[in-house]
Amino acid sequence: MANIKHHLTDEILMGYSAGSLPEAFNLMVAAHVSLCDECRARLAAFDSVGGAVLDETCADAAPMKDDALAATLALIAGGPMDGAAPAPRKPGVLPKPLQDYIGGDLEAIRWRSAGLGVKQAILQTSPDASARLLLIPAGAAMPDHGHGGLEMTMVLQGAFVDDGERFGRGDVEIATEDLDHTPVADIGEDCICLAVTDAPLKFKSLLPRIAQPFLRI
Ligand code: ZN
Ligand code: ZN
Repeated sequence: MANIKHHLTDEILMGYSAGSLPEAFNLMVAAHVSLCDECRARLAAFDSVGGAVLDETCADAAPMKDDALAATLALIAGGPMDGAAPAPRKPGVLPKPLQDYIGGDLEAIRWRSAGLGVKQAILQTSPDASARLLLIPAGAAMPDHGHGGLEMTMVLQGAFVDDGERFGRGDVEIATEDLDHTPVADIGEDCICLAVTDAPLKFKSLLPRIAQPFLRI
């Protein structure tokens, strides 16, 4: 079913394949790939190339991170979610790798207010990057912010529009240091996203900036 238009970059997929990404990013890749045939195929290609390179340079190869392997295994165990008959919306909002990580679907999430009606749930990952789930009420906007590093946001439910582009379920928006943006959730349905970042966001307006250390985003 997924009609995904915004994908992961080759760089990210290669990093995942090589086991060199932070845990939070691995979670993003596993979740996206479980919904996206195209990126799953690209990842498989990198995996086979990487395997061949590793075979040749075994002696000085970096070991694959355990968590990357675990995420991959979880993915294989879960298998693709899409392609089945259109079920009455019960297969879960969270992709299988995320459900495994959290221990359930939406009902297992403990939301906390992030201000302006936005809620978030921070996921426990290694500290080199952070992962959180965001709930943006239908029609509401995320606070305007810039980034200190790389941020990837994948839609799990609903949709948002940012700078004239629409992101629906499975789509990933990749924001870098030079982008200031204000994603706005579609009216009609609350938007739930997985967001990972390797640096704290730089909020522009005063209130979110004061709150930032407390929200840990
Ligand atoms: Zn993709
Ligand atoms: Zn952002």
